[in-house]
Amino acid sequence: MGLRRATARPYHERPMLAKSRASVTPSRRPKSLNGRAPTPVGVLGATGTVGQRFIQLLENHPWFYVDEVMASDQSAGKPYAEAVGARWKLTTRIPEGVARLKVRGPGEKLRSPVLFSALDASVAGELEEQYARAGHLVSSNSRNHRLDPLVPLVIPEVNRDHIELLERQKFSNGPNGRGGILTNPNCSAIVLVMALAPLHRAFGVESVIVTTFQATSGAGYPGVPSLDILGNVVPYIPGEEPKMESETNKILGTLGARGIESAGIAVSASCHRVPVLDGHLMAVSVKLKRKASLKQMLAALTGFRPLDRMALPSAPAEPIHVREEDDRPQPRLDVDRSSGMGVTLGRLRPCPVLDWKFDALGHNTIRGAAGAAILNAELLAHAGRI
Ligand code: NAP
Repeated sequence: MGLRRATARPYHERPMLAKSRASVTPSRRPKSLNGRAPTPVGVLGATGTVGQRFIQLLENHPWFYVDEVMASDQSAGKPYAEAVGARWKLTTRIPEGVARLKVRGPGEKLRSPVLFSALDASVAGELEEQYARAGHLVSSNSRNHRLDPLVPLVIPEVNRDHIELLERQKFSNGPNGRGGILTNPNCSAIVLVMALAPLHRAFGVESVIVTTFQATSGAGYPGVPSLDILGNVVPYIPGEEPKMESETNKILGTLGARGIESAGIAVSASCHRVPVLDGHLMAVSVKLKRKASLKQMLAALTGFRPLDRMALPSAPAEPIHVREEDDRPQPRLDVDRSSGMGVTLGRLRPCPVLDWKFDALGHNTIRGAAGAAILNAELLAHAGRI
């Protein structure tokens, strides 16, 4: 249906992190250029680490505005600002319009057609299904439904054709429309897959060995105790390695009549928690099906602009940014590239064991969570599904 950019300056390149951003009020909400008023959305798990990112990133979004927030019983009934209290850990303030919203309790009836989920995995499975059955479109960060054969696990730059799976889901039409669940990948899998996708497309990826260095914000709040992580590296993140291995193959897999056929890539992941605030860095070695020169590798990576013509508000103009310096990417210096939606890649060099090796970095709560779910919803809006 051809939604277009709301402003000449892409939304994703506006200063999301600036303290001076105006709050969204009904009278000042930016209009979609196709004439539609912005769609009201709800945020489930709105008080947590990822929930707060949703609230931040959706402020002044041209297509969506936050109308409802939901969290656990301990937050329910309070105004959002009071429920979050000192747990608000972002450098921007809570948007005025959201600060006053009354937090809904788990399972409470909601009216927004689109719900972004940042629910704790212990409750996400059941609650997301309940809302999908009631006719909401749930764009989820949680792991619960990612590997469900009928649930799309989507990175718009990589496998946007997989959203077709939504049509095969069994959620009946509810009062809010056609319900469904779509998911974005785990915060480390998305960085890996973004880097692999152009190489897989150009040369075929046969096998991957990846070692991650993952930020503490990836564990939510309060997350890893400070005495366990300060001056330390923890070589284990529960469930992370299998997620990277299986999600990579689903995302790079092929959509067919019987669902997604795995890409069949052998992936070996070793995941580590490091004392970094935001940004998952990873060292990756790949074996390719067809030989590639350095020049061809660079051309595939830098020419990867699959969303160029779609003008989705959160899509980075440069999904993969390749750095030439020997000591980049670094989380502190590169994590906010493209307002946290880009993946930075560097140290591309031959691997004496496999074919090539490199480092890749992405923002775990933006590209790896809230920003990814918002981009997925933008894709659905562009496809006329919202
Ligand atoms: P978090 O900081 O612990 O936040 C969890 C949220 O879930 C809070 O809003 C909490 O509400 C709510 N919640 C907990 N129990 C609930 C219940 N029984 N009913 C309703 N709501 C409940 O966790 P997070 O790091 O934001 O992660 C949220 C989800 O995103 C998880 O599934 C996680 O695996 C996934 N994820 C996280 C990251 C990351 O980088 N952090 C990246 C990708 C995916 P209260 O505040 O009221 O307790």
